Amino acid sequence: MVNVLFAAQDARWPEYQDALQDAFRDAGIKVHLARGIDAEAVDYIVYAPNSDLQDFAPYTRAKAVLNLWAGVEGIARNPTLRLPLCRMVDPALTQGMVEWVTGHVLRHHLGMDAHIMASPGTWKPKAPPVSWDRQICVLGLGELGAACAKQLVQLGFRVSGWSRSAKDISGLQCYWGEGGLDEALKGAEVVVLLLPDTPATTEIMNAKRFGLLAEGAFVINPGRGPLIDDAALIDALDRGQIAHATLDVFRTEPLPQEHPFWHHPQVTVTPHIASETRAHWSAKTIAENVRRGEAGEPFLHLVDRDLGY
Ligand code: NAP
Repeated sequence: MVNVLFAAQDARWPEYQDALQDAFRDAGIKVHLARGIDAEAVDYIVYAPNSDLQDFAPYTRAKAVLNLWAGVEGIARNPTLRLPLCRMVDPALTQGMVEWVTGHVLRHHLGMDAHIMASPGTWKPKAPPVSWDRQICVLGLGELGAACAKQLVQLGFRVSGWSRSAKDISGLQCYWGEGGLDEALKGAEVVVLLLPDTPATTEIMNAKRFGLLAEGAFVINPGRGPLIDDAALIDALDRGQIAHATLDVFRTEPLPQEHPFWHHPQVTVTPHIASETRAHWSAKTIAENVRRGEAGEPFLHLVDRDLGY
């Protein structure tokens, strides 16, 4: 019997209890799954960084921490964690992000606000460009960024992308490493941020980088709040360098009431809903990693603690 501790938030337990049991059964693993198990008896920890569990030292026999979130900045820097850490990758999480990013790109590309917000009686036709006359840059070409970039390419956009390591993705102009960032951003009319929050990505979008974008560009951030220098973004919005920012993630969440993003007319705030981990799908990823751990096979989606993602 494999002991699996559910150490995400209690509110998620009812949905995860059933989904995980089903997934373990389908994977052919006999599991004791509970919210309370003696630390020394735990084999795997199903985790979310907003959990009460912050000290991993007592979990001496555990083989891995299986994160329910794609973002791991809330646990990757925990000094008590010596166990392998796996992040969440699942098809529904990816699909949700593709839909959210595509929707917000199309909102700005088509200029939908002009008509949705117009007062009755306004008749001001202005045709948007077609997709292949629009340059988009996606920062981060991992599980989520690559899927979004491919969808945008399929819609006909001219898309550049940037990652740490070299990539070759059909239809995409790929850049990588420190030397590639400015080239990827140059002239982009929309930038989508899907980088992880690590020391190397903090405030990667700063005054200089906003200045590389086309004048009147759109910023879409479903990645993490610290990717953006907030003051530099507000300044770029006020100067018209950036036309609008759609922001789903923030340094402090919920976004504090007094934060200028709430009231800025060119900022759309969404409450960290770009893509959600769904129990049914994520349970399959968790079960597969437990199966692998028990079979002595390498874990999927292992986090590199030195890189922080
Ligand atoms: P991932 O598969 O780990 O991909 C991360 C990408 O960022 C990779 O392409 C990586 O390059 C690149 N990268 C990392 N550090 C870099 C650096 N210093 N310079 C250049 N490129 C760098 O992660 P993912 O699953 O796509 O998720 C991305 C992020 O989305 C998560 O970390 C999380 O913060 C966010 N997220 C948000 C929501 C939401 O609802 N808002 C939901 C899920 C995830 P390589 O390919 O070379 O490694």
